[in-house]
Amino acid sequence: MNYKASPKRYSSMKYRRCGKSGVDLPLISLGLWHNFGGRQLNSEAKKMLFYSFDSGITHFDLANNYGPPAGSAEANFGKILSKEFKRYRDELIISSKAGYDMWEGPYGEWGSKKYIIASCDQSLKRMGLDYVDIFYSHRFDPNTPLEETADALELIYKSGKALYIGISSYSSKKTIEMFNILKKRNIKIFIHQPSYSLINRWFEKDLDKNLIKLGIGTIAFSPLAQGMLSDKYLKGIPKASRASDPKSALDKGFITKRNIKIISDLNQIAKKRGQTLSQMALAWVLNNKAVTTALIGASSVKQIKENIESLDNLNFSKSELQEINKKAKEGNINKWARSSSY
Ligand code: NDP
Repeated sequence: MNYKASPKRYSSMKYRRCGKSGVDLPLISLGLWHNFGGRQLNSEAKKMLFYSFDSGITHFDLANNYGPPAGSAEANFGKILSKEFKRYRDELIISSKAGYDMWEGPYGEWGSKKYIIASCDQSLKRMGLDYVDIFYSHRFDPNTPLEETADALELIYKSGKALYIGISSYSSKKTIEMFNILKKRNIKIFIHQPSYSLINRWFEKDLDKNLIKLGIGTIAFSPLAQGMLSDKYLKGIPKASRASDPKSALDKGFITKRNIKIISDLNQIAKKRGQTLSQMALAWVLNNKAVTTALIGASSVKQIKENIESLDNLNFSKSELQEINKKAKEGNINKWARSSSY
């Protein structure tokens, strides 16, 4: 396919500065965790990438293990990069991560230098890149000295394999520790990637305030709670949905009566604002001053379009926020809580 990006791609997207850096990120970023794996990209997945970039989404988030099978999302994205996106490389912010289970044996996951360096090299090879824009420690490793994980991030940064460094799902305490270790080595943490949504609010305890203080940007992942914050599950679990796939990360057990009630109540508030629930959920995450960008996933171009339209109404009145606060209770859906519990 001869893809040519829309000349209007920067006409409507909004951008925000990432922490105290020199880089702006689009308010909506696209993650390739689900729907971009397999032997090759299906036509909808390709369309999603092109539609996103044509809409000003310059940031695409990957990790070593995205697929399935693990690695295939990076390999598929690499093919798009080598052809369709090649001439736009300098308009793109591409990230990868290492931390979760990637290959067999004792050196295939967590936070050792051995694993992270090898994984970064593999990711670059799969994507056909000399460098990624952001490289993350994907999770905190309680059994590896933080200094060693920092050693790996330092080597990746200083060898030019990543322009910026990020951490994901680290607690405030461990974020501050890592920040100080890297600071001594003249490296700043550019960005933190926590889970954050209307029904997963651990980020607000103190991490958001600390990130502002430290000058670190935030990319909030699963801002739609994997799709639960839409009208999709109001009447049960539809066939074409993440929760209907037993291999997906959205446990059917999350779709409880209590959570459906919370979602229905929030849906009513969204309607009054003239938004869909997904749009209000994204606008609400972006209303937190610490948040630079909302990192969505999608299974269709239609969803991306709807989600970008959330940017048409980012303002909340005091009374709207109060009403939302009353309804937006914890849904007990944070699968990543372990990493931030240290
Ligand atoms: P979301 O919360 O945005 O959920 C995305 C899913 O919600 C879609 O795949 C789709 O599911 C559904 N959806 C999206 N838009 C709509 C809409 N408008 N109406 C109805 N349903 C909608 O994010 P993800 O959980 O996918 O995570 C986003 C990204 O965050 C990942 O791709 C990855 O890059 C990153 N991430 C990082 C993690 C980390 O540890 N650092 C962990 C998890 C994610 P359906 O298939 O049902 O249509």
